[in-house]
Amino acid sequence: MSNTRREFMKVGAAAAGLSILAPYAGIAGKLDREKARLFAVPVDENGAYTLSPLPYAYDALEPSIDAQTMRLHHDIHHAGYVKGLNAALASMAEARAKGDYALIDRLAQKAAFHGSGHILHEVFWKNMAPAGTGGPPAGALLKQIEKDFGSVSAMQAQFAQTAKTVEGSGWGILAYEPLGRRLVILQAEKHQNLTQWGAVPLLVCDVWEHAYYLKYQNKRGDYVDAFFNVVNWNDVAMRFDAVAG
Ligand code: MN
Repeated sequence: MSNTRREFMKVGAAAAGLSILAPYAGIAGKLDREKARLFAVPVDENGAYTLSPLPYAYDALEPSIDAQTMRLHHDIHHAGYVKGLNAALASMAEARAKGDYALIDRLAQKAAFHGSGHILHEVFWKNMAPAGTGGPPAGALLKQIEKDFGSVSAMQAQFAQTAKTVEGSGWGILAYEPLGRRLVILQAEKHQNLTQWGAVPLLVCDVWEHAYYLKYQNKRGDYVDAFFNVVNWNDVAMRFDAVAG
């Protein structure tokens, strides 16, 4: 095992990238794949995403959340994200087959919008349970909350205010940031700008002007093409192994 690999393994999945899901990157910074599978989003035999059924009845969260809202939200809105994500992925496959990437920016936007919608709703439904059955924060989660926020009530107050003040549509999100190994509370405006929440970066290319302007000026395309001359695919593969192996 190379030093690089050993170092990476020591740091573990914490170095693998960002994730909003504690199950993806355990609270101690290492993956627990068995537990993560409990939260995996389903796909059909063709690899297309499918809509998970609600883990409880439509009226199970009454009176906090009404049955009609749950039915519309899950069966219409969430189902629409699944359909849109699969359509975007199919269009991307067509583009690859034709070698025609003229619409790829629009398709990337659609995949981000529908993909984030799908992933966040899969988390959202499972984040809820009938009143009195979900328990208080406990165990390692409780310890991490106390370390990063002081107390559960302080975390909850910050979360509530963060969610309430999202400009327009969006989400309040308690997330685990595995590089710094801490819990963070974030706002997502809309939810697609332009990411799929829960995706873990494996290979990234900085296209801010500071990354290329001295040499390439306005020719970002030439810089991106040249980037592939210097990619460390061993690093990318180790990151992939850490999250998916
Ligand atoms: Mn929604």
